Amino acid sequence: MAQTSTRERSAYEENFRDHLGNVTPDGKRLKIHPRKPRGAYHRARVLVSWVLLVILFGGPFVTINGHPLLLLNIIERKFVLFGVPFWPQDFHLFLLVTLTFVVFIVLFTAIFGRLWCGWACPQTIFLEMVFRKIEYFIEGDAVQQRRLDKAPWTADKMMRKGLKHGIYAGLSFLIANTFLAYIIGIDELWVIVTDPPSQHLAGLGSITVFSLLFYGVFARFREQACIIVCPYGRWQSVMVNQDTIAVTYDFQRGEPRGKARKAGKEVEGLGDCVECRQCVQVCPTGIDIRNGIQMECVNCTACIDACDEVMDRVDRPKGLIRYSSFRSIEGGHRRLVTPRTLGYAGVLLVLLITAVSLFGTRDEVQAVILREPGRLYNELPDGRLSNFYSVKIINKTFSTLPIELRLESPAEGELTYLGTLGPVAPQGIVEGRFYVALPGKLLQPGRNDIVFSLWSGATLVHRLESSFLAPHDVGTR
Ligand code: SF4
Ligand code: SF4
Repeated sequence: MAQTSTRERSAYEENFRDHLGNVTPDGKRLKIHPRKPRGAYHRARVLVSWVLLVILFGGPFVTINGHPLLLLNIIERKFVLFGVPFWPQDFHLFLLVTLTFVVFIVLFTAIFGRLWCGWACPQTIFLEMVFRKIEYFIEGDAVQQRRLDKAPWTADKMMRKGLKHGIYAGLSFLIANTFLAYIIGIDELWVIVTDPPSQHLAGLGSITVFSLLFYGVFARFREQACIIVCPYGRWQSVMVNQDTIAVTYDFQRGEPRGKARKAGKEVEGLGDCVECRQCVQVCPTGIDIRNGIQMECVNCTACIDACDEVMDRVDRPKGLIRYSSFRSIEGGHRRLVTPRTLGYAGVLLVLLITAVSLFGTRDEVQAVILREPGRLYNELPDGRLSNFYSVKIINKTFSTLPIELRLESPAEGELTYLGTLGPVAPQGIVEGRFYVALPGKLLQPGRNDIVFSLWSGATLVHRLESSFLAPHDVGTR
């Protein structure tokens, strides 16, 4: 925008509230062609992105003691976190971890805004650091891209577009396979990819659907995922406040904005913003950060780099756009610790302590003992009373466990297996039946408490309580 009158500017400044940067006035999608970013922040983000991409693509191949680093097999309900297996029975732990993570995100966002979006979100990293870079390489910078889009379909345009979308499709296939590897495991994925297709139609179908989804998001949908789909993006309005650190324009220093020279003459009384709109041209979500913090801003820092370059050229201090909070720019003090952040931190601490203690006391073996339905009690030839039970034992470890079930209390009782019990295979379940015989003199009429213990070798792995039913006249026998 050229230098504008005060009235025009104020109309422009308020106009941004009425539309999205990537939608035309008649409601159509406006394709954004951000200028190629460059600068210190961009170089740092490239470095961080490559580290994260190596971790993401390398993750499925990393094992701990022969077991995957991360496995989220929702279909078969198998979950592995840092080599430790989790079962559906550990769902409460999963919920607790999810809740802790959400509170952490809320606290982090209240202090640092959308740092995650700009530096670590897979959507931003893939779009800005992989797909967009391929686009720049094949089609050129923003101006050349716009020109190519408007040009007729010549052989050159077909070659460029075909090459770009071919690479996009290949990359989407690779990303789909990587995400699937985190769900079904790299070994299972390898079997699907190498076996004849007819043997794994469901697996191949999933890969195809995931590939198309990723291709659609990165080739077509792009910044709309951040602006209108991502729930985290929509939460911003309730999580950030005037103390949140975000990519912010220093309006105190920049305003009134305008070109420093007009008609060959110096213009007096202007701020540092020279109205070059470089910050807008690099923005991948099509917004003008000078309007203040907006939900569309993914904190990608491209506008900081662009403005710093301009400031260098016009010989003014860098940082007209920088990481800062509204309050500190307004002249107040930057406050990281506020009652709100303290409250979030308190909740987070409680959740963390709970999660750590629950993880620390988590049983590696779980068992369920049920009295057999339909049978109350039996009287044995020696006069003792017996109850029948079924037991189900889950081995959550990756090792085979020898198992022995003992009656712990009352100690005078006797436990007899009907068949054999164990050992339990890694990640396996065994089921068995047994009965407990007790002398009548130990029992009260009706329900009596009894305690079982489950041993693996010399280690007590689980303790269970159950009940033993006795007849109403047990005391008189
Ligand atoms: S890049 Fe900096 S100087 Fe140029 S319009 Fe944006 S804020 Fe103003
Ligand atoms: S306003 Fe700046 S930080 Fe925010 S998305 Fe646009 S370029 Fe990135």
